[in-house]
Amino acid sequence: AKTADNQRWFFYSDAFRKKIGDEKEIMDQMEDALENSEFEMYLQPKYNLHRNAYCGCEALVRWRHPHKGLISPGEFIPIFEQTGFIKKLDMFMLEEVCKILKRWEEKNYPELSISVNISRKNLKLTGFIESVLNITNKYRINRGNLEIELTESSIFEDVDRMIEIGQAFRKYGFKMSMDDFGSGYSSINLLGNLPLDVIKMDQGFFNSRLNREQNHIVVESTINMIKKLGMTVVAEGIETEAEVEMLRALGCDIIQGYYFGKPMTVDEFEQQIFKNE
Ligand code: C2E
Ligand code: CA
Ligand code: CA
Ligand code: CA
Repeated sequence: AKTADNQRWFFYSDAFRKKIGDEKEIMDQMEDALENSEFEMYLQPKYNLHRNAYCGCEALVRWRHPHKGLISPGEFIPIFEQTGFIKKLDMFMLEEVCKILKRWEEKNYPELSISVNISRKNLKLTGFIESVLNITNKYRINRGNLEIELTESSIFEDVDRMIEIGQAFRKYGFKMSMDDFGSGYSSINLLGNLPLDVIKMDQGFFNSRLNREQNHIVVESTINMIKKLGMTVVAEGIETEAEVEMLRALGCDIIQGYYFGKPMTVDEFEQQIFKNE
């Protein structure tokens, strides 16, 4: 037992040291990585169940590290949030989205919307709204095609600030979306009063520990509530045909998940999604 304990202790301490090392490495490298164009925008398609057609996509960042390969955002976003670097990264992603929207307009591709993730840290910054407008104005995009995703937890952290930001952006024509709905502590009583166009039901709804029947009741009621409040409902993390058929029967508007496509490079997206149009 003693040996096992020792081994476990070494195991934990190694993992811990590696983690600290990685964090410091990430902090040392992030600024240069942005300069060297190591951050890449991936796009994951969204599919409209009423029109039976792709209707948009979400922009998701990847770090193409020269030695470590492709790194997922889960590994660096929390560190970027701690250091404040997330502001630059989110603005970089927003600009990439604008470039692609412009390019699709110029190529006369079918009109798709793109959503971009904005971190809770950005909401707090004064000048945030102006920063977004500075970037979007440069590209003169059709603003209705840009959707801004704020997470449920960041929205309920400061509802007044969210209302201010949401009202400002909607006045300019952007769409506002609540990400990860149902993952934490939503104040459902406030939902109808928030300046939101879209609600994205968290993946947790579809990997739930409830039995089939209970899960069906919860998903059905949630979809009905969102739609009756006049918003568009997106289901996230959908991987199977059975889930798609259930959501179709319940009147869900849009699906995002591996079933209709994983996140992919812009080139792959243009080939796969626009190819058959
Ligand atoms: P999110 O905004 O909730 O994005 C959805 C995540 O679920 C993505 O992970 C996506 O690849 C994954 N996903 C989509 N469909 C499926 C499915 O059918 N099954 C499963 N198992 N997973 C699916 P990803 O790309 O690793 O991103 C993780 C999180 O990192 C995002 O969660 C978002 O919170 C954050 N993130 C990504 N890009 C950015 C960014 O540019 N800025 C900020 N602030 N956060 C970002
Ligand atoms: Ca998102
Ligand atoms: Ca989400
Ligand atoms: Ca699932």
